[in-house]
Amino acid sequence: MQELNFNITTTIVMVSVLFLIIVIRYFVFSGAYYYTTFVLFRKRLLSRILDTNPISPGQIRSEVSYSILSAVIFAIFGIGTYWLWYKGFTAIYQDLGLYPLWYIPLSVFIVLFIQDTYYYWVHRWMHIPKVYRYFHKVHHNSVQTSVWTSFSFHPLETLLQAIIIPLIILWVPLHTYALLAILIIMTISATINHAGVEIYPKGKYGSWVGKLIIGATHHDVHHRKFLCNYGLYFTFWDRLMGTERELSSKGKKFLKR
Ligand SMILES: [Zn+2]
Ligand SMILES: [Zn+2]
Repeated sequence: MQELNFNITTTIVMVSVLFLIIVIRYFVFSGAYYYTTFVLFRKRLLSRILDTNPISPGQIRSEVSYSILSAVIFAIFGIGTYWLWYKGFTAIYQDLGLYPLWYIPLSVFIVLFIQDTYYYWVHRWMHIPKVYRYFHKVHHNSVQTSVWTSFSFHPLETLLQAIIIPLIILWVPLHTYALLAILIIMTISATINHAGVEIYPKGKYGSWVGKLIIGATHHDVHHRKFLCNYGLYFTFWDRLMGTERELSSKGKKFLKR
């Protein structure tokens, strides 16, 4: 195979293609999620919508703009990561026989846990008033969140979010399938957590899921009350550090605590 030359033109083309993929993914996934929950199953999910007030078009425009800006940064980091892999600097592997098969789900969990730990502490740091203004305020401009809030961050915050995956894959052996699964989970989780509708099951399962994994209700409280519920995927750090706050009455109804 011909050696790939990472010159300026090739790099710009690759970043542009990845940017388009990321933006299309955002519109398609967020759009499909919105359509499924707020249109197709509206009647069934009506009581699970956390806030039925309409969101202003201005807020949605701003969220979409910042999300597109985030896509530029994610694309640059994505191609940077591809370069690291291409040059053999990462621990990514493709031979399924290299590690036992059970290591694939375990590696996904390990990476999600590292990312969750990193984000919990960076997130708390970003809530220090001086830092908050420059890094995190943009994301909190959305008090009532929607599917479009999922990647609406100030570029400085996006940088902090984007850097962790390349750093992890330098050290943690990951099959390409595991990496793909992580990227998909990142998208799904960001959308679910901001969509403003609780989709976790009711009753016993719901309470289990809601106790361990962050969902719309949990993250909604963060956007409304600020200094609590900082986690990304798991409730672990919020529980350990005592920063988990009560869910709204609507949330409690669905995810018994
Ligand atoms: Zn958020
Ligand atoms: Zn925050």
